[in-house]
Amino acid sequence: MSFDIIKGMATTLKNIGKKPTTISYPEQERELPPRFRGRHVLHRYENGLERCVGCYLCAGACPADAIYIEAEENTEEQRVSAGERYAKVFDVNLLRCIFCGYCQAACPTGAITLEHQYKLASYYPEDMVYHKEQLLEPEGQATSGSNDSWFESAPADAVQPVPQESHVFDGSQASAAAVGLGDYPIEEPILLVNDEQDEDRRKLASRKDELQP
Ligand code: SF4
Ligand code: SF4
Repeated sequence: MSFDIIKGMATTLKNIGKKPTTISYPEQERELPPRFRGRHVLHRYENGLERCVGCYLCAGACPADAIYIEAEENTEEQRVSAGERYAKVFDVNLLRCIFCGYCQAACPTGAITLEHQYKLASYYPEDMVYHKEQLLEPEGQATSGSNDSWFESAPADAVQPVPQESHVFDGSQASAAAVGLGDYPIEEPILLVNDEQDEDRRKLASRKDELQP
């Protein structure tokens, strides 16, 4: 028996009895974290009015150009949302969407959230353009969706280091601080070794000194 086979058998024996990391989907489903970003939902207020006021901010914030909106004026006879306008057409192309959540963050009325629906598949690309009728909560339902979990601050172990505040990035002095930029008080700028590459930084650093009172 070659050494490779013995090595392979040892790996098998080592893992016998361990809990599998896979699950038997679709019979079993994973419990998703509260901030999981799946398919969008459009929300209503308790009185049934739509939260979306057709302001286009979500479409403007979308880096993938995945949202298409046509806004229409509300009238006294036909009031759909609480604002001046409402979204007559609201489409999200889930083939373009990268589920970044910028649309949710940009929305001033909490109208759009990314929820836990992740079963998004079709043989036909046109099925992946979700329309307002599919995205909007049914009448009689008024939830704020995952906005609730985003209002709470992030768990301590999920907090990301911000170099501008700590002046440390990946264990080293952050680059902006290292060359005397940013708000890091240092006695003299520490420049990199390559003179040519440092030229711009030197200029900026000296300009900063000139501007300081
Ligand atoms: S989640 Fe991101 S990519 Fe998807 S529609 Fe919203 S802003 Fe666009
Ligand atoms: S979902 Fe929000 S951001 Fe997008 S158009 Fe409606 S109100 Fe504006």
